[in-house]
Amino acid sequence: MKQLADKQQEKNIFEQMAHHEQVMFCNDPATGLQAIIAIHDTTLGPALGGTRMYPYQSVDEALEDVLRLSEGMTHKCAAAGLDFGGGKAVIIGNPEHDKSSALFRAFGQFVDSLNGRFYTGTDMGTTTDDFVEALKETNFINGIPEVYGGSGDSSISTAQGVVHALEATLEYLFGSHDLGTRTYAIQGLGKVGCKVAFHLLEARAEIYVTDLNPDRVRIIKEKAAKTNGNVYSVDRGDIYRTEADVFIPCAMGAIINDQTIDQLKVKAIAGSANNQLQTPGHAEKLQEKGILYAPDYIVNAGGLIQVADELYGPDPERVLVKTKAIYRMLFDIYQQAETDGVTTAEAAGRKVRRVIKEQQSRNNFYTRTRRPKWHIRE
Ligand code: NAD
Repeated sequence: MKQLADKQQEKNIFEQMAHHEQVMFCNDPATGLQAIIAIHDTTLGPALGGTRMYPYQSVDEALEDVLRLSEGMTHKCAAAGLDFGGGKAVIIGNPEHDKSSALFRAFGQFVDSLNGRFYTGTDMGTTTDDFVEALKETNFINGIPEVYGGSGDSSISTAQGVVHALEATLEYLFGSHDLGTRTYAIQGLGKVGCKVAFHLLEARAEIYVTDLNPDRVRIIKEKAAKTNGNVYSVDRGDIYRTEADVFIPCAMGAIINDQTIDQLKVKAIAGSANNQLQTPGHAEKLQEKGILYAPDYIVNAGGLIQVADELYGPDPERVLVKTKAIYRMLFDIYQQAETDGVTTAEAAGRKVRRVIKEQQSRNNFYTRTRRPKWHIRE
């Protein structure tokens, strides 16, 4: 990350944000808040993206991260068919000891000053408690707890979306989306991986699991004892070599790389982890090896669908219906990739570009107000 930041430093700020609409530097000496909000593209609607808190070594490193992440959000929102654009914020600081209620209230004021151009919530290093503070200053927050009128834990919808993605993948590969007759290798049994594992066990599937934390593996084993499914734990490094139908990465990014692709003995990859491919070229390597790759930002869109939906007023049933669409979205991407003779990652990228282009032409149509109709908290 540092090397990239150094390279970025050689460019001036406008060159760095050449593809972004707006970058806002937020400085509040009284609370120590130093944050950057990046709005990448609002063609589809207001920018949406979480706020990350991280002890960046330099402002350039933070800027590089927020520009990259906000661009990714434009793709995610477009692929999921949401009326949102891409944005993201980073707070420079250590989440262990630099947090205070005042800091998040100050951040909320900055978000509010954008007057609905940017909606945010939790990300790495921030929690719903932090955003309950920000919510005192602004309504432009999503992913808040149920007691504050929000939709609560979004990892439930993310896991549900992963299950639909698995079904679409099986249907495409084997002509049946029956989860129980297949085998799976799951990396990471946290908030998402654990729920996916539970679901697969309930469906009587055979799963191979690994997690850095032995307690997480123990929880799954206890669960398996109450189902007809089977669970086997494997060592951390062995998960890539595990023979199974589908590899489900639910831990960290960049795990599909030159080292791991050679080891993989699966027919498909479909998991929640963000940025699974170390480089775009790894999508081609997977294709050459005959491994079907489900683009991560489609597989893990469930949580995003939930927090976007929250602005209509929380409704778990409606979110469930919307999350089901992941099955169709992914299946269509698989088919399109086959038709066009491209990788699934490229097919997803083409879809994103098409969605944005179509809306760009519709945005020329003058209406008295372009404000979305779901400002329920105003
Ligand atoms: P989490 O922190 O709750 O769980 C991650 C788990 O992975 C932990 O149990 C951790 O011990 C384990 N882990 C970390 N490194 C590992 C390794 N090398 N080998 C095996 N296990 C390892 O995170 P989560 O919320 O479950 O999210 C999982 C992934 O999905 C992340 O990449 C996250 O960015 C992505 N994601 C999550 C959501 C959501 O709604 N929570 C939404 C979209 C994307």
